[in-house]
Amino acid sequence: MGKKMPPATNFRKYIRSGKHSETLMINQLSHLRAENNQEVFRFGFGQSPFPVPDTIVATLASAASRKEYMSVQGHPPLREAIASFHGYFENKKWDPEQIIVAAGSKILLYCIMAAFQKAEVLLPGPSWVSYEPQAKLAGHKYTWIITDYDNAWKLTPEQLEQHCAAREDHDIPLILVFNYPSNPTGQSYSNEELEALAKVMKKYNVIVIADEIYSLLSYSDDYATLEEYYPEATIVSSGISKWCGAGGWRLGFHHIPKQLGTAFFQAVISVASETYSCAPSPIQIAATEAYQNIELAKEFLSKQKCLLKTISLYCSNTLRDQSVAVHDAQGGFYLLPDFIYYKDKLASKGITTSEQLTAKLLDDTGVALLPGTAFGMPPTSLVIRLAFVDFKGDQIWDESIKNPDFDKVKLGIDRLCQWLESL
Ligand code: PLP
Repeated sequence: MGKKMPPATNFRKYIRSGKHSETLMINQLSHLRAENNQEVFRFGFGQSPFPVPDTIVATLASAASRKEYMSVQGHPPLREAIASFHGYFENKKWDPEQIIVAAGSKILLYCIMAAFQKAEVLLPGPSWVSYEPQAKLAGHKYTWIITDYDNAWKLTPEQLEQHCAAREDHDIPLILVFNYPSNPTGQSYSNEELEALAKVMKKYNVIVIADEIYSLLSYSDDYATLEEYYPEATIVSSGISKWCGAGGWRLGFHHIPKQLGTAFFQAVISVASETYSCAPSPIQIAATEAYQNIELAKEFLSKQKCLLKTISLYCSNTLRDQSVAVHDAQGGFYLLPDFIYYKDKLASKGITTSEQLTAKLLDDTGVALLPGTAFGMPPTSLVIRLAFVDFKGDQIWDESIKNPDFDKVKLGIDRLCQWLESL
């Protein structure tokens, strides 16, 4: 007699537990409300409202017949254009040979994690929604270091030192995923803050993935970067999703410092080759144009930054007037309001978590937001992420841009304030 076979459904217990990315979920819920003719203010999903400039769209159209696979590492003219572009705007001194291109920076973040057999992933909380699931998928231990409002939601050198010193096994690589300007907080780090953090990173040989996907949308011109203080182990992650408004085109890249060695670089290329093969060829051609056209980018970026800053300040000032604790954004399109001063009033209505808060707000006001828990915050912390992107992005090319129209955002913020008033 042969061995008894397990039941056909046995495989189910081996399925990884996983949930739908919360940002994509809120997008679906918002669509559902709109389909049912219910009012919705789309502050949940962080998609760029700005259209990809026409000349870049035209380049993509003309490249549609490019059906060949390109190299895993990426089209050489694109890598050269990326290096010069970031050299021009951010003073980066990148070797195109150290750049890897992918179908979005998200998959590359995963490739970096998967290139390690074992690692500990360190996440300042709050951080972007996908880092933790990716660390889990790669089979790594992950640790959150929760930051606070008083430190503008920034990781401090003391926190990093405390965590590093307390580690039991210093042999296992430590990867810090470090995002600025931050999604969800809208905050960036100053030169002094980065320098102080870099000292601790150096001491403990931390490998840093600096997620700089919003760097080109920093409102201030003196954007500081960790690479300046810790070039030997800072991997920079970026792409065209945010600054060029082309999230759905799926094109991102990483710059990996030479000092991390050829074996590591090859390990990442190997994961890339066994997963996505190469970024789509027509998109690589169009992205080459986007990165080569510095004059267009200068105008596009300055118009975007000006409008984003105006809208973000409107939101943060109005919310602060309503006793919501919030820091002004320094780049990108997010704010992280904290409803701490409404704690008692909310509790009296049975609302004690950020998830309950966002669910009730969507129901009562149509304002779609994401709970702090989606970004690693403890459930009872009453922070939510507000993506102030519900406005028409194509107006940046209008003559009337001196008087921008963001009435939908104003109305959504109004509804939110009225709701708080009524508590
Ligand atoms: N990192 C952060 C902080 C993001 O907000 C996003 C997109 O929302 C990404 C990475 C992913 O970017 P990409 O479209 O290049 O995969």
